[in-house]
Amino acid sequence: MRKLRSVIIGAGMSGILAAVKLRERGEDFMIYEKGPGVGGTWRENRYPGLTCDVPSHCYTYSFAPNPDWSKFYADGREIEGYFQSVFERYGLADRARFNAEVTRCEFSDTDSRWHIETADGQRDTADVVIAATGVLHHPNIPDVPGLQSFDGPAFHSARWDEQVAVDGKRVGVIGNGSTGVQLVTALAARCAKVVHFQRSPQWIMPGATFEYTPAQREAFRNDPSLMHAIRNDEAYFAALRRYTQGLLNTESEALAETEAIVLKNLEDSIRDPVLREKLRPSYRAACKRMIVSWGYYDAVQSPVVEVERVGIERIEPNGVRLRDGRLQRLDIIVLATGFRTDRFIRPTCVAGRGGVRLDDVWSERPSAFLGVSIPEFPNFFMLNGPTSPITNISLFDVAERQWEYMTPLLELLRSGEAREVSAAAGAMADYDARRIAAAKTTVFAACTSWYLDPQGVPSIWPWAYEAYIEAMRAPVLEDYEIR
Ligand code: NAP
Repeated sequence: MRKLRSVIIGAGMSGILAAVKLRERGEDFMIYEKGPGVGGTWRENRYPGLTCDVPSHCYTYSFAPNPDWSKFYADGREIEGYFQSVFERYGLADRARFNAEVTRCEFSDTDSRWHIETADGQRDTADVVIAATGVLHHPNIPDVPGLQSFDGPAFHSARWDEQVAVDGKRVGVIGNGSTGVQLVTALAARCAKVVHFQRSPQWIMPGATFEYTPAQREAFRNDPSLMHAIRNDEAYFAALRRYTQGLLNTESEALAETEAIVLKNLEDSIRDPVLREKLRPSYRAACKRMIVSWGYYDAVQSPVVEVERVGIERIEPNGVRLRDGRLQRLDIIVLATGFRTDRFIRPTCVAGRGGVRLDDVWSERPSAFLGVSIPEFPNFFMLNGPTSPITNISLFDVAERQWEYMTPLLELLRSGEAREVSAAAGAMADYDARRIAAAKTTVFAACTSWYLDPQGVPSIWPWAYEAYIEAMRAPVLEDYEIR
């Protein structure tokens, strides 16, 4: 058995997972991370109100349960701390280079190895590349006229400027996804005025969070099966499965149930009929990623919050000019306008066999066989790559299953049975065709959202969670080109 040398790109959730698994095997690897620390999206996003809407004990590696979660839904800083603690516990510091953005990644047909370059001039070679670069990390900056002319601070939500004091200020939030909703909820308690500019209203799923008491945390520490029980809570998974059925079948009772819940939430929560109509979406529930919130509808009825559905004409030095001629005077503007989700590892220049460029292969849409492998890119594996989102299933679950799935493929390299492994072109084409046809029938196809690829097709796993578990059980070797 030969020991492989791997390069992991990204020190977020998926990259740390790969590093832990390789360290456990005693193999050589290096993590290259463009940012200054670990945590990926949870390091980059620092806006007030940032919270994960997956229960904390489910948003955890299976091998690193955390008895110290303070709440049912953890906030961003606590999640970042969790990644730091796993990173330290597994002694990964000597295996990571930070502020080291990988700019080139080229496969050599001569030695079947990957040659890597970083922006600061480092070079490395590896048998295997693990691309763990995430999906939601290239800010989408809207093309609003006059943005540069604004007199005050204006920044994207993922570039939160901690030097800027928001307390007592007039803040405009443009964008109404999970981020915009969390931000407005948090800012309503701190600002003199918050204007929420919504191009599209959102359906809101009610949720409830609560703090774990010191006694509960002590109990988790003493008896990890209590955490296991939360993690595998049957009622939670039954609800998630039911919700997923609705996403996949727009005619289903299950989707009608989801729609009834969010409609009731709107009707019961918003007292003013004018505001209620402003907040009422015209598209089907769950078509954009469902927002779970326990505070937004209260926040939005606070006297300091205004919801603007009239479109933005332009940004001026003093604020936002609306299409009806009014000026919303503001001190700060936050762009909660989401991410360019078609990028993945790009702009890194990735070149596979014969110099074929990933940018060209992905000219129509980014795709990877089962989200992990791409024809002509041997020994290059993606975690949470294109088409990976499995409705609202925790990305930890997805990444861990993907890692288990690719392990036998790595074994082929270790044993010397293969020098090069990548998805076969036929398997990839078949997967794409079946996936695209199925994705077009899901509720995600019914409106615009970050799930859509450049061709307007939802870039998701469009089948049941059980089917995903089955597909990830083991690779079918006929689906791979093995040399
Ligand atoms: P998003 O869901 O893509 O929402 C972007 C928002 O910006 C939308 O309301 C969009 O309006 C609006 N927008 C985009 N371009 C615009 C323009 N030119 N003018 C006006 N409005 C514009 O982005 P996000 O809220 O950052 O969330 C992205 C994903 O991150 C979430 O879906 C979720 O998966 C993840 N996230 C998760 C959590 C969590 O709790 N786990 C928290 C935050 C984020 P339209 O809808 O009209 O396009």
